[in-house]
Amino acid sequence: MTDKTPAPSARNALDQSPLHQAMHEQMQDGSLFTRAIEHGQAYLRGISDRPVAPDAAAQAALAGLDGPLPEGPGEAEAILDQLAQLGGPATTAQVGGRFFGMVNGGLLPTALAARLLADTWDQNAVVHAVSPTNSRLEEVCQRWLIELLGLPQQTVAGFVSGTSMAIVCGLAAARWRLCQRLGCDINAAGLASAPRLRLITSRHAHSTVLKAVVLLGFGTDTIEYAEVDDQGRLRPETLPALDETCILILQAGNVNSGSFDPIRACCEAVRAAGAWVHIDGAFGLWAAACPNLAYLTDGLELAQSWSVDAHKTLNAPYDSGLSLCADPEAMVAALQNSGAYIPTSEHRDGMHFTPEMSRRTRAIDLWAALSFLGRSGVATLVEGLHTRARQFEAELKQAGFSVINDVVFNQVLLEIGDEAKTTAFVDHVKASGEAWIGPSRWFDRPVVRVSLCSWATTPADVTRAVAAFVTARDQG
Ligand SMILES: *Cc1c(COP(=O)(O)O)cnc(C)c1O
Repeated sequence: MTDKTPAPSARNALDQSPLHQAMHEQMQDGSLFTRAIEHGQAYLRGISDRPVAPDAAAQAALAGLDGPLPEGPGEAEAILDQLAQLGGPATTAQVGGRFFGMVNGGLLPTALAARLLADTWDQNAVVHAVSPTNSRLEEVCQRWLIELLGLPQQTVAGFVSGTSMAIVCGLAAARWRLCQRLGCDINAAGLASAPRLRLITSRHAHSTVLKAVVLLGFGTDTIEYAEVDDQGRLRPETLPALDETCILILQAGNVNSGSFDPIRACCEAVRAAGAWVHIDGAFGLWAAACPNLAYLTDGLELAQSWSVDAHKTLNAPYDSGLSLCADPEAMVAALQNSGAYIPTSEHRDGMHFTPEMSRRTRAIDLWAALSFLGRSGVATLVEGLHTRARQFEAELKQAGFSVINDVVFNQVLLEIGDEAKTTAFVDHVKASGEAWIGPSRWFDRPVVRVSLCSWATTPADVTRAVAAFVTARDQG
């Protein structure tokens, strides 16, 4: 600003405390936000040159952020600088090309930029009346997701924190509907007097499936397990006899091997019994959006509910999960919420589709991600992860490593040796700063997981990571 006259809102604030005046000035002046962006840009520019895992010194320096609760207001610029200087180096370089841990996705620049803008708006996604923008973008994203993933037309989407919560939603909707068919309103009756439902899943179900089972009060001891084949896929012939009290939880993307349960065969069996199928497709459901990989999710439209993350394979920012359900009445009933002060409308009121009432506007950055990529861009992104995984597999085999899974999607599993050798190998790779990987267990054998989840991984990144693996093996 050229003249020093305070902006109108700052002028009106002069009768408030110095703290309030400072905050009004920060809002009007904006240099604080520019500073944050500049720190972020410096971080992104240096991402390939820094260690992927933070070193011990960077972690020790976090002590500088610790201390007694400040007695009074601080200095905003100094706070940001301190955070950038001490916090930044102790992050893992997830947005770079050599983070292969968990199934953590990378970051789409357009989605990040949209999120920065949306965070500035600080909208509450609760109902249309408090954010028409979010409400409309939830509708748009829902329609686009139905099209991209090939879901039934009536499917509703809930924009939740991640797949953990989306599984809770799917199972809650399943419970409401199955109980309702059996003449019980589970919301009123509660578990104690409800008909007993049967939960069926495979021995390789993700730990968050078990968490949902616990949170919803079913109890893990009641789960009936189907067996899996050598890739971790549910074997349909080992399903128990099915009836109208069953909820089958399938997996599209085994967190270790990346394999997919045989969805069509299982769904057909369950439909014949009048039961419910939920598909946990946290990272794998996106295969459906990729013509060359869609065979993996064949039959997915026969399920009743699905859980998938936008923050994994799609590379949207955290926290962004999707609860999808082809039975809108059951989903809304299971998550029911109302209050005299809540202005609901004939528009889309997001809180009817999520466990949370107030939440951030996840649909905004998701909309930006899908707008940027388009149908072909999503397919290119997903297929790119598979291509890099195949490259990893080939170069590892070339270097004499033992790859023990069929690389059908984005996961590569390595056998290194016993527990101690495996741990030492992982530690060595991480300490080299060249890549981030994690250990796991596969049929009770210690293994190393390599997860290709970021668009930012280049062919050269894969080669560089394999070189670090060779060094870790030969020096270990
Ligand atoms: C990551 C993951 C989950 C949990 O998802 P969050 O987004 O971390 O809550 C569930 N199932 C599978 C297969 C996963 O990979």
